[in-house]
This record gives sequence, C-alpha cells and structure tokens, in this order.
Amino acid sequence: MNQADLKARYDAVMMNAFGVPKRVFARGEGIHLWDTDGNRYTDLLSGLAVNALGHAHPGVTTAVAGQLDQLGHVSNFFASEPQIRLAERLAAFTGVEPTRVFFTNSGTEANEAAFKLTRLTGRTKVVVMEGSFHGRTMGALALTSNPKYREPFEPLPGEVFFVPFGDESALRAAVDNRTAAILLETVQGENGVVPAPEGFLAAARRIADDAGALLWIDEVQTGLGRCGDYLAHRADGITADLITMAKALGNGFPIGACLATGRAAELLHPGQHGTTFGGNPVAAAAGNAVLDALESGVLENARATGAWLVRALGELSHPQILEVRGRGMLLGIVLREEIAARVSDDALDAGWVINAPRPSVLRVAPPLIATPEDLAGFVDALPALLDGHG
Ligand SMILES: *Cc1c(COP(=O)(O)O)cnc(C)c1O
Repeated sequence: MNQADLKARYDAVMMNAFGVPKRVFARGEGIHLWDTDGNRYTDLLSGLAVNALGHAHPGVTTAVAGQLDQLGHVSNFFASEPQIRLAERLAAFTGVEPTRVFFTNSGTEANEAAFKLTRLTGRTKVVVMEGSFHGRTMGALALTSNPKYREPFEPLPGEVFFVPFGDESALRAAVDNRTAAILLETVQGENGVVPAPEGFLAAARRIADDAGALLWIDEVQTGLGRCGDYLAHRADGITADLITMAKALGNGFPIGACLATGRAAELLHPGQHGTTFGGNPVAAAAGNAVLDALESGVLENARATGAWLVRALGELSHPQILEVRGRGMLLGIVLREEIAARVSDDALDAGWVINAPRPSVLRVAPPLIATPEDLAGFVDALPALLDGHG
C-alpha cells in the first residue's frame, strides 16, 4: 500500500498528537530504513536516540525472540534472571554502591519513579533547569520547562522551580534545606542539543551536597553510549543520586530504568510504587543484548565516529552553520537562520533522516554502529540542503 493511502488511513483513525507522519516505514536494517514505496533512507536520528544498534540488530532480535519463547511475562510478584542481570549491569555504571534499580517502560515513567523517590526524602521542592525536557506524564511534565507542553495541563504537581541551565549562582540561590532534588540533563536534547557548560555538573553536585538534596540526572537521551559513555555524567567526574534512562536501553523494545544510589537507594519500600510491565523478562533481554553490543566495540565506535562527524561538519565551514555542539553521537547543528524544519524535510526527501528540535537547530543522532563511511554522504549533501533555503 502506498504512502498517500496509509497517511489517509492514519489521519482517519489516529489521534492528532504528532501531526501528519512524514513517512510510513516498512522495514529497517542496520542504519537504513525503507518506506512502504520501497524508497531507502539513511537513519541519522535512530528513532530519537533509541536505535543505538541500528535496525533489526541480530543480537537484540535473537535475545527478544528467545526470551519470548522461554518466558515472556510473570508480573512483579515474581522475578526473572534477565531482569536481575540487567539491573546488576546498569548498577555497575554509576560508580556508587549500593545502586538499586526500578525498571519502567519509558523515559517519562523512569522520571515519575524518581520524582516519587524525591518525595520520600521528606522534602518537596525540586529545582529544575530552563530548557529541560523530562517527559509528558503529569509528574514529568511538571519538571519540563516548555510552556507549550505544560500550560494546557495545569495545575501540575507543585514546588518545582526553574533556573537558567548552566547558571551556577542562580542554582545555588534556588536550592535550600527544603529542596529534595536538583534535576538536570547533561545535554538538553529536546532543547536543541545544549550541553551543560564545563563545570556545571560538578557545581550542581556540590550545591546538592551542601543542601542535603539529591542530584538527579536524566540520562534518558544521553545515556548508554549516545554521548560516548555508559552514563554521560560520569565523564564529568561526578556521581548522581538518581539516574533515569530509557531510549537506547532496549534498542526499540520499550524499557526504562530509574537508578538510585547511596542513601537514595534505600528510599523506596514495598507498596510505594509499582508497574505491571516494568522489568518484564523480554524487555530485560533486549537491554542485556544492547549492553552486550556496547561492551563489544559499539561504544568505542560511537566515540570515534562522533569525533569524526564533528570534525567533518566543522570542516564544511558553511556560512549557514554557526556551531556544531553536543557530545559523542548526539549533535546539534546550529544554523544562522530558522530554516531547520525545512532543511530537515528536504533531507528526508533526499534520503537522510534527521530532525529539527528547534527552529534553527538540526539534530543528528545516528545509530552508534555507524561508521564515517556511512555518514560521509550526508556531510557531502548538507551544504546543498542548506543552500536551498535562507
Ligand atoms: C525522551 C526523553 C524523555 C521521555 O522519554 P519517553 O520514553 O518519551 O517517555 C525524558 N527525558 C529526556 C531527557 C528525554 O530525552
């Protein structure tokens, strides 16, 4: 069935949450996607930083199919070995013992779990960054700064205070002994790939410690290799009390996790939180397969390809490109004019999947398995795409 017919059927039956889909895809393999008309695309967005291992990764496919065949679901009255093993492996990334894990099905749910944990400190204030994105459920939305997302749904859970991202003195002024947690992203992906300024995470760690507050880092987009490390904030030499992750964890199979370290690891007690699907053996098997791949060369590849891509984009010296920012394989190409949405559409027509998180920013987040050879064609094509506008 062709694109136009499928879009018409979509339009007739789907809630209008996402606008008109730009394509209906039929198949993916590695870094490539094919639409229902058979056109091929190179995926430089990874389903929003999800498909770290690309599409139809054999390790994930085998793990998921095998686990579903053996044991698909048991509820959280019971446990499964893949879930325990995945929790052990994630806990080892935090640099803190003990670390305990609560599994969820998405990023926003990981943040809901963490938000509830902050309340169990006996404090109720949370200090969050302007430009933040933490999800769309009511709790996570209360922590998300974009008024367009928030305002139709107010009142949201209260005592959330926003400070400018990267402003150490504003953060210090906002945090006091009623503050349960400081929440931030290492790189604000949805805000247009804005990295925290040098030293800001360490400052946030100190400010949290001085006030007896928790430091909560949202690694939903940045974690699991996307920025070149298992947890991006560990590269800043700090540890966190709460860490949330999701996107890349299952390579497309839905799974998220909330990690709590040190005293925060002991906050949650039976009956205070729950989930039916979270930590399901199939999702856990997907997570273990992703970690297997990251540990056997994909993480190193992401670092090398990311460094190459920053260099290659910089060497374009295109007048429309003001800056290439980000970390690892999460990059924002900052444009002089607000043409990113149109450039992104043209790129799609030319067979490159990217997106425009801000009017003047293109986001490039290729699968972590991509090589410079895979991405060179995009770098070559970009100047003409930019010249087509502005
Ligand atoms: C995507 C994202 C979320 C929300 O994750 P969902 O799985 O869409 O609920 C939360 N935080 C950050 C930083 C994200 O990028």
